[in-house]
Parts: sequence; C-alpha cells; structure tokens
Amino acid sequence: MKRLIITYNQNCNLKCKFCYIDFHYQKIEDKTNEIVAKAIEYGFDIITFGGGDSFSKKTFRTACKLAKENNIITHVDTNAKAINDSDIDYINQYVDLLGISLDAIGEDYDKFRESKNLFQKVDLIIKKLEEKINIPIKINTIVTKLNSHNISEIGDYIMKFKNIKRWSLYQFFPLSVARKEKDKYEISEYDFDLLTQHLNINKPNLNVELFKFKDRVDGYLFCDEQGFIYTNSINGNYEKLYSIFDKDFKNKTDNIKGKINPKTIHRYK
Ligand code: SF4
Repeated sequence: MKRLIITYNQNCNLKCKFCYIDFHYQKIEDKTNEIVAKAIEYGFDIITFGGGDSFSKKTFRTACKLAKENNIITHVDTNAKAINDSDIDYINQYVDLLGISLDAIGEDYDKFRESKNLFQKVDLIIKKLEEKINIPIKINTIVTKLNSHNISEIGDYIMKFKNIKRWSLYQFFPLSVARKEKDKYEISEYDFDLLTQHLNINKPNLNVELFKFKDRVDGYLFCDEQGFIYTNSINGNYEKLYSIFDKDFKNKTDNIKGKINPKTIHRYK
C-alpha cells in the first residue's frame, strides 16, 4: 500500500450538518507524529491529512513536516478556518497539494457551513497562496440539493486563479451520521450528472473530478489520529479493523488489499 489517509475523527472546528464523520469528542492522545513515523518505516509514499481542518490540530504541523522531510508526498485537506499568516510559508515548504473546501460563494457559503465569514477566509487564503507561492490547490465541493444552484458560480470563481489545478465535486454521501439529514441534502445521481455535465469550464489546466456516491462507498481505508485503521461498509457504517501500531500491521494490510478500491490507494501520484 502506498497512500495513507489520516482522518481526524475526534472533533472538527465546523459542525456541517451534511458531514458523514461520526466524531466521538472523547479525550484522546493524538498520535499523528508517531503515525507518520510508522508510515515512513512502512514505505508509504503519499499521506493525505484529511479534513475538516488539519491546521486546527496541534500535532499536524510537525507531523506533515516530518513526512515531507522524509520524501513523502503530502496532501492536506482543510476548511481554511485555522490557517494563519505564518502557515502560508509553512504550506510553501511542506505541502505538495492543498485541498480547500468550497461549496458556494459569498454569504451562501457561510450559511451552507453555518460559519460566519468563512468565505472571506477561504478567499483570503487562496489569494495569499496565489500571490506568494505556486503550490497546487484542489477545491473540494460537496454537491447537495441545497447548494446545487451555487455550483456554476464556484466554477467561475475557480477560473480566476491559476494555482487551482483540480476541482473535486462529490455527490452528497448519506453515510453514517449524514443519513439523518438525507432528506434535506440528498441529490439524485441524475441531477448530479445533469448539473456537472452543464458546467461551463474553460480552463485548460484544470482537472475536474466527479465522485458519485455509488463509486465511493466500498473499500475506503483510513487511519484516525490514534492510529486505528477503519474501512466503510456499503451501508455507510464504519468498521474498526486494527491499528497502525500493531506488530503485524503489514500482514493485516496485505490481507485486506483485495477489499480496497485501488483508486484511493494511488490517487495524487
Ligand atoms: S469541515 Fe468537513 S469534517 Fe468538519 S464538520 Fe464540516 S464536513 Fe465535517
């Protein structure tokens, strides 16, 4: 296995109602630095530090630096809320691909994620990154029934920036806790196809990726900040498998390889 996906499932600095991560909010020991040390030992070559917001986690900056200094490709997802001024230089040095969430423009976005001035913050960070550095940015958009009318506007916004190289559009996933909000957010595959087929994107170096719920549900393996490895079932439930700190981690991982979607292993290489 080449790519390790770290997903923080203790808490998040936003409380998006469409989120499918079942945060446990318990007091834990964050072992992200130790997890990265294991990833180096096991020869992983890509680490994705997943959102909500990696920058809000105390250990993230040292862990990502450790990965980069050991020649691991670092992909970091964030909602941008906890990125501060000094992080612009940090990103320049230690991040290979920065994924930023954006599901609408202006106040519509603040309402969608129920966070005041969130769009302003995202816009500021993207502009600062564009001015100073050339790290590729990936925009992550959740497409739901509620923001389907905002999607083309996001496309117009993305076209203004030369360092936005990838736009990933995810059909709302009614997984885990997000099933409670299914009626409010669910968008049919037909509507998702219709909407994405009519995007008028005229930016030659922009890679647009579409993720349908049915493509995403099986074989997604991730590690939480305590080192526990999970996968998800077709019904959207998470299953705890074993730990990255287990002595036989490599064997256990080799044994479940057939169940893991290869797309999630080699993405971003
Ligand atoms: S920012 Fe992402 S991880 Fe955090 S609550 Fe919102 S959707 Fe979930």
